[in-house]
Amino acid sequence: ANDVTKPAEGDEPRPAGEITWQDGNVPFSPHFGDIYFNPKDGLAETRYVFLEGNNLPSAWQDRESFAIGETGFGTGLNFLAAWQCWDSDPKRSRRLHFVSVEKYPLSRDDMIRAHQRWPELSQYSNQLAEIWPHETMLPGVHRFSLADADVSLTLLIGDAIECWSGYDGNIDCWFLDGFAPARNPDMWHPDLFAALASASNPRGASLATFTAARIARDGLESAGFEISKRKGFGYKRDMITATLSAPVGDSDDAPDLFEIADDPWFNLPRPKKTKSVAVIGGGLAGAACANALNARGVAVTLFEKADQLANAASGNPIGMLEPYLTVDDAIMGRFYEAGYRFSHRKIKKLSNQGLVEADFCGVIDLATSARKRERLDGLIARLGDKPDLVEALDGDQASERFGLPLPYGGVFYPSAGWVNPPSVVRAFSDGIDIRLSTTITAISDAEQGKVLTDENGASYGPFDAVIIAGALETQMLNQTSWLRDHLNPVRGQISFLPEEILANLGDGSAIKCVLSHKGYITPARDGLHVFGATFGRDDAQTDLREDDHAFNINQLGKVLPDVAEKLSPDMLQGRASLRTTTADHLPLIGPAPDFDAYLASYGDIDKGKKGARYIDAPYHKDVYICTGFGARGLIGAPLAAEILASEICDMPLPLEKVLMHAIHPARFIIRGLKRRQLTA
Ligand code: SAM
Repeated sequence: ANDVTKPAEGDEPRPAGEITWQDGNVPFSPHFGDIYFNPKDGLAETRYVFLEGNNLPSAWQDRESFAIGETGFGTGLNFLAAWQCWDSDPKRSRRLHFVSVEKYPLSRDDMIRAHQRWPELSQYSNQLAEIWPHETMLPGVHRFSLADADVSLTLLIGDAIECWSGYDGNIDCWFLDGFAPARNPDMWHPDLFAALASASNPRGASLATFTAARIARDGLESAGFEISKRKGFGYKRDMITATLSAPVGDSDDAPDLFEIADDPWFNLPRPKKTKSVAVIGGGLAGAACANALNARGVAVTLFEKADQLANAASGNPIGMLEPYLTVDDAIMGRFYEAGYRFSHRKIKKLSNQGLVEADFCGVIDLATSARKRERLDGLIARLGDKPDLVEALDGDQASERFGLPLPYGGVFYPSAGWVNPPSVVRAFSDGIDIRLSTTITAISDAEQGKVLTDENGASYGPFDAVIIAGALETQMLNQTSWLRDHLNPVRGQISFLPEEILANLGDGSAIKCVLSHKGYITPARDGLHVFGATFGRDDAQTDLREDDHAFNINQLGKVLPDVAEKLSPDMLQGRASLRTTTADHLPLIGPAPDFDAYLASYGDIDKGKKGARYIDAPYHKDVYICTGFGARGLIGAPLAAEILASEICDMPLPLEKVLMHAIHPARFIIRGLKRRQLTA
């Protein structure tokens, strides 16, 4: 936080993410020719400029939730100072959220070094260092939970204008801290200010920055901020504070009308205070939702029709925890890329605590076809310089890594591995009120909230909200019966391979990591390797079939012929279950649309009326959906739960707008209307 301009070191252009050190441990950017914080008293400056400038701590007092937005996360000093101030305020909001953008995230070691300057913040900086990834942070939204989920840190990794324009923020106050305007005009661009204005809480927001440069004043003013000047920190003459007022007439009761460009059909309901939630479905999706809400102090009751949790697709003994990394900007890849890093962090933590059974032994992804080769080459072109995420392997290297000869090369994901999904479900549902053998058949409205009825007529509740995470059975409830046309079963059978068979091959050494080809095979757990799996579209039976074992053996034989040769279907055990898929391979995560009201409200959108005004999305109040992960529940469900908990508990979202729209349950209705496959 400074606008002291220092000469750049030398004349050569320097890479934008590079830092050097001044005064021992003050980071300096040779590219921008500026320091990250005031070397004399950075912490005092942060407190004066950003906290006092935004009227903190009083602005967050007596609030349920308070969100700070920032431009330029850097070392996180502003975040740490805000967190410490919040933590020591007895009248603080129940939760604090910090959303910041950073194009050049610091490495963990550099961050730790910079924090050494602030021993009084060590209680907080240690926690930040602990959650800060060891791996390269890829572009996109990264969500971290701190202080038992009362504090959340959401990092938008990428360019400030792009990231803030694509993110729905609901931000209460802003810290502008992107190097001196003269040194980095991009962080003071009118487009950025416009994006900040639209990411602000519609009820109003405040802003503070260390500079009073004209470019900042003018830009903020044209974005609708009302500027005040204030004495700057230390020797500095001026700094700016600003406020953004709520538009006239904005009140909680006013119906929300939106121009067509705003996609009002995806607007989320305004959160209310939610103290109790019923979750229907005791698989990974339901348990993840229960866990995310429970961590935020919501009382959760989890309903499962079977007599145990993780009874269906989440009951497989081993699931691959394989990253889905994007080669291009495809939406599905972006969702699951974010999902993987969220899951991986969460599962790794639980595994370190001994609460989840997992092995982060790495995953080899083999180039089994020309198309796959092309995709993996694209991945290496994108990420090849990040061996912590992905490494190219030729055939020999792949064989060496795996422990048995392999016919092709591919890539290696060193952080990945396998997980026992039932142990994840168990860990997630710890401390939750669980109702087994209870099939919920109806959700109805009562005066105090939502009431659930089971097949025997018993009722439960009232609850403030309900999440339906019932895989295919999600469509059995009235509110979601329209999903019948959009959820499809895909039968999957896995086969178990006794470890002795493999041990007698090659040099006797075991498989060292997971192998993903057209199918996959894992290292042994409890004496059994898992391999598979089949994809039986529109097949909703879960009987164990020899044909399916034969299919798995045949598939395995294409990469491990010596192993497959020793196997026959009749000697194998296995497990079959159903995956729930959607036409666009993305899950359904969000509020439950009122199908008829959608048709009535948006029935004419196929005509593309310009400037037409539409009413805000009509939902079944307080009912949410979480399903459709196909075979990717492990890398999709934890992030989905974080999304729903954020929607329900009024927190900033852990995903950018385009992805929020892409997973919105109403997308199929809107698409149907636009393509005229549905009519009002
Ligand atoms: N708030 C930080 C702290 O507490 O340590 C100091 C921020 S430092 C003055 C400015 C930050 O903005 C740097 O971390 C830099 O990498 C980042 N930055 C510069 N240009 C950017 C851009 N166009 N988009 C996003 N971040 C950018």
